[in-house]
Amino acid sequence: MPGIKNFKGKVAVITGAGSGIGRATAHAFAKEGAIPVIADIHEERIENVEKEIKALGVEVSSMVADVSDRAQVEAFSKFVLDRYGRVDILHNNAGIGWGGPLEVFPLEDFQKVMEVNFWGVIYGVQSFLPRMIEQKSGHIVNTASGAGLNGVIPLGAYSASKFAIVGYTEVLRAELRRHNIGVTAVCPGIINTNIVKDGKATLIEGASADQEKMTAFYKRFGWPPERVAKGVLKGIRKNRAIVPVGPEVWILWYIKRFSITLADLINSIFARMAL
Ligand code: NAD
Repeated sequence: MPGIKNFKGKVAVITGAGSGIGRATAHAFAKEGAIPVIADIHEERIENVEKEIKALGVEVSSMVADVSDRAQVEAFSKFVLDRYGRVDILHNNAGIGWGGPLEVFPLEDFQKVMEVNFWGVIYGVQSFLPRMIEQKSGHIVNTASGAGLNGVIPLGAYSASKFAIVGYTEVLRAELRRHNIGVTAVCPGIINTNIVKDGKATLIEGASADQEKMTAFYKRFGWPPERVAKGVLKGIRKNRAIVPVGPEVWILWYIKRFSITLADLINSIFARMAL
């Protein structure tokens, strides 16, 4: 039965670990005695997180890698496997939060969102999975989003990428059980990280939700990323299929399962408020 109960000495690979949820997850694994191997596209950030974890007296390694580039993800996997010979946990977490109404959202930006949020996860799985299958153990966590369970306005491209991750993860989980490998989709709600500030917004004239307001909103009302990290570790221990984080995700998810009509009405209200 998949599910890692004790993280001591386990090699935990985390992408997008230079900030927010990935950084918090790396710290949480370090505190549990795992060996975090972390990657990010942002060199200074990943070096800083490596230093923070080293300062705790924990073994850690890092590499700069862009998850949307297949060759770089394969190089990262080679780096991990050459150094440690195994991979116990793979947390495909890197993502970008580019948003805007679909009628004006540039196609190049749509492609970029899919390349990072969707293909980044696929490249991660393809690169590390053969070793996990050989080991007959391991756990893969893919960071989806509450926006992968309910469409979020005006984040059409982002929601599409995260719905894709939820579907992909569901199938992967069922297929990998025979190899004793667990698979989890973590679906956070509003989390106070750099994602909105670092993101890109395409707006239509007169829109009320601009990037500055959203950044302030996430800062004020967002849950700390450590809450997601806790969910990730619990999700692995219990081998959960989906880990929603935050009441906003649970409530909207339950409403949708209870009544599509009601969920549709709520979305129309959100659209009227946001556009
Ligand atoms: P964040 O911006 O704080 O951290 C994301 C990290 O990913 C950054 O350090 C960034 O440099 C890195 N990154 C971006 N593009 C990359 C690439 N191509 N290759 C490698 N690294 C890259 O944001 P976060 O909120 O911690 O986001 C982590 C994940 O959580 C994302 O997948 C995001 O979609 C998801 N998520 C976030 C929230 C939220 O409210 N913050 C909610 C649901 C899901």
